Amino acid sequence: MSAQLMDRQDLEFLLFDLLEADKLCERERYAEHSQDTFKAVLDTAERIAASKFAPHAHDADEHEPRFENGKVTMLPQVGEAIRAFADAGFLAAGHDDESGGMQLPVSVAQACMTLFRSANTPTSAYLFLTAANANLIRAHGSPAQKQRFLPALLAGRWLGTMALTEPHAGSSVPDARTTATPVGDGTYRIRGTKIFISGGDHELSENIVHLVLARLPDAPAGARGLSLFIVPKYRVDGEGRVGARNDVALAGLIHKMGYRGTTSTILSFGENDECLGELIGEPNRGLNCMFHMMNEARIGVGLGAAVIGYTGYRHALEYARTRPQGRHPDARDPASPQVSIIEHADVRRMLLTQKAYVEGGLALCLTGARLADDARTAADAAARSDADALLGLLTPVIKSWPSQFCLEANSLAIQVHGGYGYTREYPVERLYRDNRLNPLHEGTHGIQGMDLLGRKAGMDDGRAMRLLDTRIATAVANARASGDAALAQHADALAEEWQQVQQTTAVLLEHLATDRRAGLANASIYLEAFGRAIVAWIWLEQAVAALRARERQRRSADFVAGKLAACAWYYACELPRNAAQHELLRRMDEHALRMQPAWF
Ligand SMILES: Cc1cc2nc3c(=O)[nH]c(=O)nc-3n(C[C@H](O)[C@H](O)[C@H](O)COP(=O)(O)OP(=O)(O)OC[C@H]3O[C@@H](n4cnc5c(N)ncnc54)[C@H](O)[C@@H]3O)c2cc1C
Repeated sequence: MSAQLMDRQDLEFLLFDLLEADKLCERERYAEHSQDTFKAVLDTAERIAASKFAPHAHDADEHEPRFENGKVTMLPQVGEAIRAFADAGFLAAGHDDESGGMQLPVSVAQACMTLFRSANTPTSAYLFLTAANANLIRAHGSPAQKQRFLPALLAGRWLGTMALTEPHAGSSVPDARTTATPVGDGTYRIRGTKIFISGGDHELSENIVHLVLARLPDAPAGARGLSLFIVPKYRVDGEGRVGARNDVALAGLIHKMGYRGTTSTILSFGENDECLGELIGEPNRGLNCMFHMMNEARIGVGLGAAVIGYTGYRHALEYARTRPQGRHPDARDPASPQVSIIEHADVRRMLLTQKAYVEGGLALCLTGARLADDARTAADAAARSDADALLGLLTPVIKSWPSQFCLEANSLAIQVHGGYGYTREYPVERLYRDNRLNPLHEGTHGIQGMDLLGRKAGMDDGRAMRLLDTRIATAVANARASGDAALAQHADALAEEWQQVQQTTAVLLEHLATDRRAGLANASIYLEAFGRAIVAWIWLEQAVAALRARERQRRSADFVAGKLAACAWYYACELPRNAAQHELLRRMDEHALRMQPAWF
């Protein structure tokens, strides 16, 4: 079975036609870059992904990491892939030239990541976590911490984790109990147990840098009492040299449904009271610092979900083109040759649904990455602040929508394969298992729904919602001005749908002010409806960009026709599903809220 990486034409369409990433080169930070250098980095990513990541994806799933003789062992190819990635500079993709980075925009760096993740998501996870870990240290570390930790992390000699979750504190992170007691020399003794820590132990690197949430003595209860600590597996001296083993013990490996190549660990900090960590950021502001990593991780989770769905779709497409089965319903001759299953309308329906979900999800996540670029480098402070606010509002959608619908795409990819899709001979079942994680980690769906409705939608008196309103109005106007009748119709549908979302939001926010419990009872349904409308906006933007690309003869006729057909399908078959959800939300449906535990 051939490796299916991302479709390069689509990636370049999204980067250059939809998001106009080459215009970023007009900004001082990216002035050394051009569309050509961006394409060259994509070429390198594609080459390494195909040669070092894809070949062991199946084997790493079959041979999970094991804990033997006090060490975690796994396939050697995982380490080789990590080294190839780091040697090519991808860990430092967004970092400054002077610190050995490539100084790439977030959108381009994330587009590169899609190639690695489509080749092998679990191996990429070590790198994705390390990059986010290094970015947090860059943003919140003291100059000395940056000097001691960043060079080794960016070179991939050390790998990083994020350690929030505890057995009794999963969704409810503020209930974490791990403690940090000052030693008196600037370090802290860390004690506690963390669970589900990805990449928490292995022999892939010289050191592992854990970022651990813990409580200082007398810290207030809840989120305002959490501080963040750098806790390395091996202690690090003032010069950044690795020293003695720290008291961080692997209490066990967790065996999972998917993502099997990534170690999932239970870590015990300070069993012998010898675990030393150092504070990063201000005391009791740990969750704020961690949000830096978590927001990046949430966009990364959405992107990962979109990419796994995308990869499954590409496999399904290849299979459907080559699998002969049955004949057209009006074929009379039983001796006539069988047709490829892509000839059947129902198979095309499944493929079109997948295409609309995965290309919509990918475009959504890269739009998020482009907003991150604007938040960092837009010309004026107001534009940077607007991009940041809009990205904050969209983050729960970026995390959740692909996790739900691109997982559905993986299920459809299995369906397209028939019984073969259910076997381990074909990668689609592995992809489904890998993607099933994404609605769970980095804040479950339920938590994202409450974040969107309970915090983001009304934040700053609805400022981010107004920014979104402006963006959607612009997309509607552009589609109406395109001269394409179908797009003008979609524009009307989007304008109407967005009004519905705003009205539903207003009803829910009003209710929330007086009854938070009832107001948030259907937050997950709100998240789904909101996300469906957002992806309608993203699809309209894609369709307009596709028409523009056709005019400029930048994309093939089939490519553009495919984009327009997927957009049309989304407006005809997906967006109308919102009507019932608006109705349920506005009547403040209380079926779930009123259901009693004893009645189940
Ligand atoms: C493979 C894997 C990798 C992970 N990697 C990491 C990692 O690297 N670092 C790390 O720190 N953590 C990691 N996690 C932990 C992950 O973030 C948590 O599993 C997740 O946040 C959910 O916590 P929980 O499992 O304790 O579930 P719970 O919090 O017990 O949730 C169970 C269910 O109850 C719902 N629920 C809980 N509270 C509420 C509420 N207030 N309102 C409504 N519904 C609610 C949830 O939505 C969910 O459906 C990982 C988890 C997995 C499975």
